[in-house]
Amino acid sequence: MIKFEQVSKAYPGGFQALKNVSFAIEPGEMAFLTGHSGAGKSTVLKLISLMERPTAGRVLINGHDLKRIKRKQIAYARRDIGMIFQDHRLLMDRTVFDNVALPLLIEGYSLGEARKRVHAALEKVGLLDKVRHYPMMLSGGEQQRVGIARAVVNKPPLLLADEPTGNLDPKLSAEIIKLFEDFNRVGVSVLIATHDLSLIARMRYRTLTLKDGRMIDDGLAEVTA
Ligand code: ADP
Ligand code: ADP
Repeated sequence: MIKFEQVSKAYPGGFQALKNVSFAIEPGEMAFLTGHSGAGKSTVLKLISLMERPTAGRVLINGHDLKRIKRKQIAYARRDIGMIFQDHRLLMDRTVFDNVALPLLIEGYSLGEARKRVHAALEKVGLLDKVRHYPMMLSGGEQQRVGIARAVVNKPPLLLADEPTGNLDPKLSAEIIKLFEDFNRVGVSVLIATHDLSLIARMRYRTLTLKDGRMIDDGLAEVTA
C-alpha cells in the first residue's frame, strides 16, 4: 500500500526532517508511527499525501511512484486518502452535514447521493443525531468524529491520521482508536502518527518509531498482557 525507499526530506533552509527512511505498509494493515515532537512523523504523512515531495528516495502508493504524479493530478490522487488532523480542521460556520458532504460535492456527487453517503458515514461514527449541528455545539471528541466521517465519506482505501487524539482524554482517545479499528476491519489501511506512547502501549499494532528523522524501530509494540 505504502512503500518508502531510502527517503530523505530536506526543507527549504536545509533542515533534514527525514534521513534515509525505508518501510512498507501492507494493504489492510493498521500501524502507528511514533517519535518525539520534531522526529518527522508529519513529514512522512505529508509525503504520502503529496503535500511535500522527497529530496531523495522513492515513495510508492499501490506500486505507483509518486514522483510521476504531476502537480495537476495531485487533487485527484488524494481522493484515495482520508486525512485526519489533530485540530480536525472543520469549517466552523458550516453544519456537520456540510462539513462531511464537502469532499463529495467537490467530486461532483449529486446532493441526493451525497446525503446517503453522509448519513452512512455519520452513522458509522455514531453522530447521525448531530447532522444539523454546528461544530461549536459539539464536544472535542465529537468534533474529531466528524473529522473522521469527512475522511471516510468517499471510502478511501487508506486513512492517515496526524495526532488524532492529541486534544482528547484517554477514554475519548480509546474510542477514536476503536473507530479506526472498525474501518481497518473492513479492509481500510490505517497509519496513525502519535507521540502518545500510552495510547500505543495497550495495543498489538505494529509501531514504526522515528528519531531525529531516522527510522529506529519497525517492530510490533510490546504486548502487555
Ligand atoms: P513531527 O510530526 O514528528 O513533530 P515534523 O515532520 O512536523 O515532525 O517535523 C520534523 C522537523 O522538520 C521539525 O524540526 C520541523 O520543525 C521541521 N519542519 C517541518 N516542516 C517544515 C517546513 N515546512 N519547513 C522547514 N522545516 C520544517
Ligand atoms: P502539523 O502538526 O499539522 O504538522 P505543524 O505545526 O507541524 O503542524 O506545522 C504547521 C505548518 O508549518 C506545516 O505546513 C509545516 O510544514 C510548517 N512548518 C513546521 N515547522 C516548520 C519550520 N520549522 N519552518 C517552517 N515551516 C514549518
